[in-house]
Amino acid sequence: MFDIVLIGSGLIAESFLEGLLQTEKPLKVCVVAPSGYPSSPLKTVELDGGLVTSMYSGCRGLGAGWHGVIPSKYIGNDESLKLLRSWYGDMRKQSLLCDSDSRVFVPYRVHRPKMRNLNSVHFISGLVRRIHGRDKNPSIELADGQMLACKKVYCAAGPINTYSLFARSSDLHDSFKLNSFMGDHVTAYLGYVSNKYSPPDMARHGGGFSYQTQLLHDCVIFKRPAVCDFNNADNVANYTRAWSNQKTDIIKKLITNGSAGLIGEALFNKFGIVLPSRGTNVYAQIESKQIFRLINNSWVTNEESLKKVFATISLLRAGVSGLSVPEKYKVGVGIHFFGNIQPLSSDSCIKVLDASIDQHLGPYHHTFFKCVKAYELGKCYDK
Ligand SMILES: Cc1cc2nc3c(=O)[nH]c(=O)nc-3n(C[C@H](O)[C@H](O)[C@H](O)COP(=O)(O)OP(=O)(O)OC[C@H]3O[C@@H](n4cnc5c(N)ncnc54)[C@H](O)[C@@H]3O)c2cc1C
Repeated sequence: MFDIVLIGSGLIAESFLEGLLQTEKPLKVCVVAPSGYPSSPLKTVELDGGLVTSMYSGCRGLGAGWHGVIPSKYIGNDESLKLLRSWYGDMRKQSLLCDSDSRVFVPYRVHRPKMRNLNSVHFISGLVRRIHGRDKNPSIELADGQMLACKKVYCAAGPINTYSLFARSSDLHDSFKLNSFMGDHVTAYLGYVSNKYSPPDMARHGGGFSYQTQLLHDCVIFKRPAVCDFNNADNVANYTRAWSNQKTDIIKKLITNGSAGLIGEALFNKFGIVLPSRGTNVYAQIESKQIFRLINNSWVTNEESLKKVFATISLLRAGVSGLSVPEKYKVGVGIHFFGNIQPLSSDSCIKVLDASIDQHLGPYHHTFFKCVKAYELGKCYDK
């Protein structure tokens, strides 16, 4: 019998395990997740009428492609710094904390989940089909029919996969309420403004760079230098999904499109390099709680919520002076899922670590915050 079965090998599962290993308690831990590094690490699914990177079920999960953008305000306590140091080495605290809530930290070298110290835990390569039991002595049924007995289950399979797993596990239906809606951060290109609007304000330090954003309720606005052909809103609108892709796709896109503006954005995103430009491009990330609906077992875009998002985009645009808006544009979805499960009873020995149980993410990228929570939970684990 295992003390703990941990489902998943993404960023959240890795952080929990990292915390658990700090306790130095003699725990029998088993991690169940698919292994191997397939040549195409991220799966694309059709959402919002386009293909987006999403719901990958392979080793490392979505963290195989994340950008590592971390709001500075999440780097506020000792635990978050410890986790950050275990990812990026010794970086000066002050340089990361910067000066305000409205800065984000962008690492030069993005951390990828790697399940350190795997020797001390039992790793099973495979998928969990069902969880049996609820209040004590649960067991895990693997896709190949194997059963694992344990005392506690920690689930970090990502919102889409955690939901499917819980839907298959009828013993959990009294402990968790499965919603028919799911949230996401919607990203949108707002438009181009000339340099009368202030250019991106950046600070550099050892591990990466940070830049300033603007927070408005559930939205965050950020900007990037508009280099060469990106001095035109319609040109930029063609590339709204450019960054939600695999590294190889991004490089291919940069080469085949021959857009100097796109290269300028890549240099800013990756290295914080601000090339000379006559203006900036303005983007927004908007929290939308019900952007997907579950219909016939598929998550599809909820048109009502999409209308609200477009209304928010219009409001945000009205608030930016001198903005030139593209004629046609698409919004980006599919990488920050949340809120499709409501936990009901706290005495259950099944715990969810990922964002499926979060009913609100806030405007900012949330992953690091979830990682710190999982790390703290692992560290405080009490048999
Ligand atoms: C291109 C891109 C850029 C991003 N950039 C940022 C960013 O800059 N900042 C930010 O905060 N966030 C970002 N994100 C979001 C971030 O990557 C995710 O929020 C985060 O990776 C979610 O981690 P997770 O561990 O909860 O789930 P996942 O990464 O989805 O991992 C789930 C794990 O569970 C395993 N699994 C699934 N089903 C089963 C099963 N049935 N049995 C066993 N194992 C299972 C999977 O194999 C995987 O290991 C980005 C995402 C993408 C795709």
